[in-house]
Amino acid sequence: MTKNEYDLIVIGAGGAGSTAAGNAAGSGKRVALIERDKLGGTCLNYGCDPTKTLLHTASVLYHAQHATGLGLRIPQAKADWEAVQAHVQQVQDTIRGGTLEQARAGIAAQGIDLFMGQAMFTSPHEILVNGEILRGKRFLIATGTVALIPDIEGLAETGYITNVEAVSLTALPKRLVVIGAGPIGLEFAQMFSRLGTQVVVLEHGKQPLPREDPELAMLLCSKLTEEGIRLEFGAEMRCGEINEHGKHIHIHGEDGREEDIATDQLLVAVGRRPALDKLNLEAAGVQYTKEGITTNAVLCTNVPHIWAAGDIASKYQFTHVASDQGKLVAHNVFSRKPKAFDDRVTPWVTFTDPELARVGMSEADLKEAKIEYRVGRAYFNKLDRAIANDQTFGSVKLLADVDGKILGGHILGANAGELIAPIVYAMRFGLTAKKMAEAMLPYPTMAEAVRWAASQI
Ligand SMILES: Cc1cc2nc3c(=O)[nH]c(=O)nc-3n(C[C@H](O)[C@H](O)[C@H](O)COP(=O)(O)OP(=O)(O)OC[C@H]3O[C@@H](n4cnc5c(N)ncnc54)[C@H](O)[C@@H]3O)c2cc1C
Repeated sequence: MTKNEYDLIVIGAGGAGSTAAGNAAGSGKRVALIERDKLGGTCLNYGCDPTKTLLHTASVLYHAQHATGLGLRIPQAKADWEAVQAHVQQVQDTIRGGTLEQARAGIAAQGIDLFMGQAMFTSPHEILVNGEILRGKRFLIATGTVALIPDIEGLAETGYITNVEAVSLTALPKRLVVIGAGPIGLEFAQMFSRLGTQVVVLEHGKQPLPREDPELAMLLCSKLTEEGIRLEFGAEMRCGEINEHGKHIHIHGEDGREEDIATDQLLVAVGRRPALDKLNLEAAGVQYTKEGITTNAVLCTNVPHIWAAGDIASKYQFTHVASDQGKLVAHNVFSRKPKAFDDRVTPWVTFTDPELARVGMSEADLKEAKIEYRVGRAYFNKLDRAIANDQTFGSVKLLADVDGKILGGHILGANAGELIAPIVYAMRFGLTAKKMAEAMLPYPTMAEAVRWAASQI
């Protein structure tokens, strides 16, 4: 093989690409990894990790300020934004395995050739990066997504930020309008609100978190409202002038109400779009749609030596899906017997406080599929540990078929993201509600709520 020839060329060093490159290099293949921005992709730099760090920091502050019910008075608790940002940076460095420079050295130590630059196909087997042509026997496209910018009149002129800027603002805004009440919008809304920003969330649709159980999603919103976040649904928006009072966004409410909202920052969080620009997929003959790259069950595109994984190709846009897909592709590209990606049991979490976690089907899905089902419920306000922790908000909702086979789980509550794990195992390995209810759990724990819900079924 000549210097610029590789067994596998991976485009994108996020969860999918990094995992695939590392696994392929680990099995002795010659691998190139191309990244145009920062190693670690969206999750580490502009997504999961900085937002979860900020949410945790904001929660510590909030609970310190609201600890009088526990007999504590912490009046001096307040945020030092510069120090908070330094903490976020330190968390990112730790997860990355050092600074960006150290992480690059780590990649080289794995035997991977790293190219920092924009990748562009010039033919089905060639890719251009930094003026250099690399030849690949196989390719993995793992370029992820970027923020979708809605078509709102005046938005570009007024100026906005996305998740990329929001995780590292130089100053905490006094006022913030978040456009979009999906998971990203609500996480940012609560995080900024708890750090002291006055937050308004504007949602074009009628409901928050459209993929979640509507009852639990609305309950979560009631909690956010109680904390002082203003949520407006069904709002038509138009951005107006910027003057000494800030940016202006004009809303036309469902009830015909007209209102002008002044803000310091406008955060767009209405969804994601595939990062395909400048990749020149036409030169490689790879088919794509506005949703992303189309793959078959084993994650191969229409071109047999080109594969795609992670957000760019998945209906589930989460890091755990991206890295599992990356791992699978590293196997499949060199295998005579590629395996299908199994996404039948895919959990996810909205990391507000309380968290909202989901796995499997919802009641709406079950009704639509005309599947007869049973519901097991456990409320945290009846659970001893939740009472002791002052974490009584929310409930566990378990869904099973008439034979007790678990079909779905929905949890709104403190650490719901951790509590969903036993339901994931039950679904993945076919445990019935009866079996779940039989297992003894330590007292007093929040996990007992999952057992209770199972015993109801
Ligand atoms: C605010 C926010 C919060 C999130 N929180 C969570 C969470 O808590 N849990 C969770 O599971 N998921 C979360 N996600 C989703 C998660 O970040 C993604 O699912 C995950 O990053 C997808 O990994 P990926 O490898 O497919 O893509 P990415 O991580 O986006 O990586 C793609 C990489 O490809 C690079 N690239 C793109 N085009 C090119 C090109 N032409 N040439 C070279 N390089 C290129 C990009 O620069 C990028 O680094 C969050 C997302 C956001 C935006």
